Amino acid sequence: MPEFFELRNIDKHFGDNHVVKNVSFGVRCGEIFSLLGPSGCGKTTILRISGGFEEPDSGEIFLDGKNITDAAPNKRKINTVFQNYALFPHMSVFDNIAFGPRTAGIKEKEVGKMVEEMLSIIRLEGLASRKTDTISGGQKQRIAIARALINKPKLLLLDEPLAALDLKLRQYMLLELDRIHDEVGTTFIYVTHDQVEAMTLGDRIVIMRDGFIQQIGTPQEVFNHPANLFVAGFIGTPQMNFFDATLTKKGDKYVATVQGADFELPAEKQAALKNMSNVPTNVVVGVRPVHIHLSETGIPAEVDVSELMGSELHLHVNSNGKDIVIVVPTTDIDLNAVHGSHKPVKYSFKPELMHFFDKETEKNIF
Ligand code: ATP
Repeated sequence: MPEFFELRNIDKHFGDNHVVKNVSFGVRCGEIFSLLGPSGCGKTTILRISGGFEEPDSGEIFLDGKNITDAAPNKRKINTVFQNYALFPHMSVFDNIAFGPRTAGIKEKEVGKMVEEMLSIIRLEGLASRKTDTISGGQKQRIAIARALINKPKLLLLDEPLAALDLKLRQYMLLELDRIHDEVGTTFIYVTHDQVEAMTLGDRIVIMRDGFIQQIGTPQEVFNHPANLFVAGFIGTPQMNFFDATLTKKGDKYVATVQGADFELPAEKQAALKNMSNVPTNVVVGVRPVHIHLSETGIPAEVDVSELMGSELHLHVNSNGKDIVIVVPTTDIDLNAVHGSHKPVKYSFKPELMHFFDKETEKNIF
């Protein structure tokens, strides 16, 4: 199936700084596609190239079957919502939203209908005559979205649109964005460095690092099967624990040795290893903090810090000189026995919840 919006082999330098490295991805019609990565990894540059505000050194861009690589920004049928809203402060809400259609020469009666429809979608019908410098950050953001959607673009680019809002408003606006997207059905590309935003909103996510794509997948795919150590460490809070480990055959079964303890790998991993020509001996094992449990027979450790977070206890433990984070539901434990520094604990995990990465390539083995 052809993708609705596609970047093919996009490369971009700023002077000697190679900021976008052979980036290709396809966005499906009507989906929310999150572009996620740490600061400086090239997200905004990719968005600006998509919108036509920046020219790539090489590569091609397609929208709805057309090559738009050389098209001017206003000819692309792509609009952008910026983090700083970019509203006209002394104009009314109505005039801000009406700006695009009026500039395009649409008759005032029609413009009125279009603005009314947008105000209803963003649920700000009562604010039409207010000046935008007298309304809240969340309301401004919704007006910026309405202004970008009013001429029915084929693709809406959103560049960290919630970054200027406080946490509570950000959480509310995330739900609002999801609702607005459902109502209008426009394809969204959503740039953020916040994995929670990317995972909550995105139908699929592309994860970037240093100008390179690391992985493209649904939130579940990137969480359950991170392609490499970077993605494994970037997705999920608290961060995944990593252990240096060895993979060896004992009898006819593969066993991972982690912190001196042996874990026999589950059947499907045994089968995968049998078919592998070069099984690495030195691996990195990743286990998410929520997938570690306390166990009488487990690996010994000592609590450094324990944080009681309502229904969960976050234990930071020292295990043979290594810092490990364990998250346990408070209902599952005797709090007095483990809550407090220097308490001795033992921990373990199920082999099926372990992730295996090649120590050399850092890639997920299975
Ligand atoms: P952030 O989340 O901090 O916005 P980002 O992932 O969006 O980061 P970009 O803004 O795309 O990253 O920047 C990628 C790199 O390109 C950075 O090193 C940045 O300094 C550089 N860069 C971006 N725009 C320009 C420009 N116009 N001229 C020179 N260098 C630039």
